[in-house]
Amino acid sequence: MKNRAKPIENLINQLNKLPGVGNKTAQRLAYHIIDMDFEKVKALSDAITSAKENVKQCSICANFTDIDPCKICNDTNRDESVICVVEYPKDVEAMERATCYHGMYHVLHGTISPNKGIGPNNLKIRELLKRLENNNIEEIIIATNPTAEGDTTALYISKLLSPLGIKTTRIAYGIPVGGDLEYYDELTISTALENRREI
Ligand code: ZN
Repeated sequence: MKNRAKPIENLINQLNKLPGVGNKTAQRLAYHIIDMDFEKVKALSDAITSAKENVKQCSICANFTDIDPCKICNDTNRDESVICVVEYPKDVEAMERATCYHGMYHVLHGTISPNKGIGPNNLKIRELLKRLENNNIEEIIIATNPTAEGDTTALYISKLLSPLGIKTTRIAYGIPVGGDLEYYDELTISTALENRREI
């Protein structure tokens, strides 16, 4: 807008860059923020900066964490013989919400996607293979999303793992809806995990 104050314009532009925040939502949020108490705005901006500064990738599973190794990798009650491979940290959250899984995780930080120029070397696949060297891993559960890219990635990893003699399974999504793991409810995730198949 032509007559909008520059700092407001700037805030709207920054918010507008966030996923799922369209122009109207960005405007609404910007005006809401300007109306907030200064302390609350400060707390919000500090939380953003602190999350960015203090959250790193776990040196074992590559999930986001503020301590290294992360809480899950450090948890001695979990089953270390199973690793569930997911695309993003948000997928670990989805699996944990379902509460039926007690093994470890490995976060790839993406999928193989030639269109976007993302190959196996851009993902945490090498790190996954390294984990398999010194540990007694019995099963790798591949929980990439039921999309073409998720399938390609699952297949690529299973081919790498087959000479190692480690059981590799893929979780069974009932209907290939092409959605993200994060949108699946707990029951769907539990069922998908139960019905996983060897690939
Ligand atoms: Zn970890």
